[in-house]
Parts: sequence; structure tokens; C-alpha cells
Amino acid sequence: MPGNTLYIVVPCYNEEEVLPETARRLGDKLRALISAGKISPQSRVLFVNDGSKDRTWEVIQALHRENGLFCGADLSRNRGHQNALLAGLMTARERADMVVSMDADLQDDVDAVDAMVDKYLDGVDIVYGVRSSRKTDTFFKRTTAEAFYRMMDLLGAETVFNHADYRLMSKRALDGLAQFTEVNLFLRGIVPMIGYRTDTVEYERGERFAGESKYPLKKMLGFALEGVTSLSVKPLRMITGLGFLVFFVSLAMIVYNVVRWATGNTVTGWASLACSVWLIGGLILLALGIIGEYVGKLYMESKGRPRFLIREVLEEETGEKS
Ligand code: UDP
Ligand code: MG
Repeated sequence: MPGNTLYIVVPCYNEEEVLPETARRLGDKLRALISAGKISPQSRVLFVNDGSKDRTWEVIQALHRENGLFCGADLSRNRGHQNALLAGLMTARERADMVVSMDADLQDDVDAVDAMVDKYLDGVDIVYGVRSSRKTDTFFKRTTAEAFYRMMDLLGAETVFNHADYRLMSKRALDGLAQFTEVNLFLRGIVPMIGYRTDTVEYERGERFAGESKYPLKKMLGFALEGVTSLSVKPLRMITGLGFLVFFVSLAMIVYNVVRWATGNTVTGWASLACSVWLIGGLILLALGIIGEYVGKLYMESKGRPRFLIREVLEEETGEKS
């Protein structure tokens, strides 16, 4: 029988508006699971404050003061969603047997946790929460997100379709994750590499309960680029393919040019020349850019800077006060 202490890890950046409601629902969920005997009374909700500029940390402190079910970790500064999540997972790893990660905004259906815990108790190590539909997302969010998954696939980055960062991981899977030391962090691409027994749970994704999205288009594009370049070298291989293609075209051009020269027609052809200059120039710049992305990644990885620093962890042994 595996241990059954559950931690729910929630990264929070400027989430003061949703936190009280999130805490209420997660608290209810934990209590229900504890009284059903599925998880131990040592189970907790761990809020990670990712250097919020609003009163998020004060809200977390107040929640913790009122109820020992809630604990908190305060990062030294804003490090972004993925790093904040990793900080939470690594903090929870030392205390829990299974960890569920979810966003603070209640877009992920809290009730899916029951099914995740059941699967864990059946011996599954990683349970992915998968969106069954995107009805409530805006048209824009839905199309861009789906284009994102398709592009990732095309560029050789393997991810779970329609799965964000709502998932359960066992202690064993987290110990595995801890051995992935990359600083260019794209968790939903790394987690499938861990392996072990995996399964999925479907849920309906709702709308943000309050506050606004912390992922505007610009950040989403950056995130997609990060995902592809940190998971796959396919873009580099594509450059090689492109190089071959251009080389063969140039062979044909040589034959063509020699024939033109032999027949005494060498002055015309300005348009084709101008076009090739632009095309080849553009391709070279593109290739350099792609290579540059990877060189930049190497540079950052070689520094091996810490991915997060924790200022303070709020926790106590007693759990819920009666
Ligand atoms: N988040 C974070 N640090 C950041 C940005 C976001 O910890 O720098 C958290 C945020 O509080 C939320 C989660 O990451 O819990 C996902 O953000 P959001 O819901 O805004 O993204 P969306 O659902 O719109 O893609
Ligand atoms: Mg959200």
C-alpha cells in the first residue's frame, strides 16, 4: 500500500482576487478526501507566491493562520509559472506521497482530483488532467492553443494533447523530475519523459473565476518557442534539409546558367537574380536565428543558475484547527 499524503501545489502570481475562493474549494476537497479515508490528515494545499506585486502573500499568510491545511512558499522574486510550479513540486516532494499541481484561477475542475487520487491508489505514477472541451475558452484562445499543440507536434516536441499543468505525480515521479536539471523549463514536455505508469483524467475547463490571464499572446509565443527548442532539435535538422534543397536547386541553376552562357544570353535574368539574393539571404538569416536560439539555450544551461530561491515556507504540523 503506497503512502497517501496529498499535497496540492498552486502557483500564484497576482491572484489576490481568486485566492479566497480557491482556498475554500481546495479546503473542502481535502477535507472530503480525508474523511473518506483516501488521503492522510497530513495532506495540505501549498500555495507558491511567485513574487506577486499585489497582496497575494498576505492572503496566503492569513489563510495559513486560520487553517493549518493551507501552507505557503514565498519565492525570492517573480520567476514565471514553470519555475514557481517546480519550486512548489520540489517543496512538496519532501513532504508528500502524491502531488497535484493546478492553477490558482479555478479553470481546472477541482473535482477531477478524486479520480486522480483513485488512479494513484491503483498504482499509477502520473495522471494527466486532459481538457475534454474548450467550449468556455474564447475563440482566440482556443484556436491559438490548438495551433500551439499542432506546431509542437510538427516540430518534434512530444506533449499530451490538451493537457496543461493540471496533473498528479507520485513521489517516485517527482524524484525522477528532480533529476532533470535543465534551466530552460517546459514541464509538460519533461514530465512525459519520466515514464512509469501514466493515465489521464478528463475534465471540463471552466473560465477564469476572477482576475485576468497572466499569459498574454506575447508570453504564449515565447512559451511555445521555449517548448519546441527545449524538447527537440528538429528545427536544426530542418535547416539541414533546407540546405540540401537549396544546394540541389543551385546545381540546377548552374546547368541552366551554363546553357544560357553557351547560347550567348547572359544579360537578361535580373529578376531571377534579385529574387535568389533575397531568398537565400532570408534563409541564411532564418537558419542563423534558429541556431542562435540553441546557442542561447546552451549558454543559459551552462551557467546552471538556480531555477528558484525560496524566501520562506509556512507550515505547521498540526493541520486543521478544530
Ligand atoms: N503564474 C505564476 N507566475 C507567473 C505567471 C503566472 O505563478 O509569472 C501562475 C498564475 O497565478 C496561475 C497560473 O500560473 O495560477 C496560470 O496562469 P494563467 O491562469 O494566467 O494562465 P492561462 O490559464 O490564462 O493560460
Ligand atoms: Mg488560467
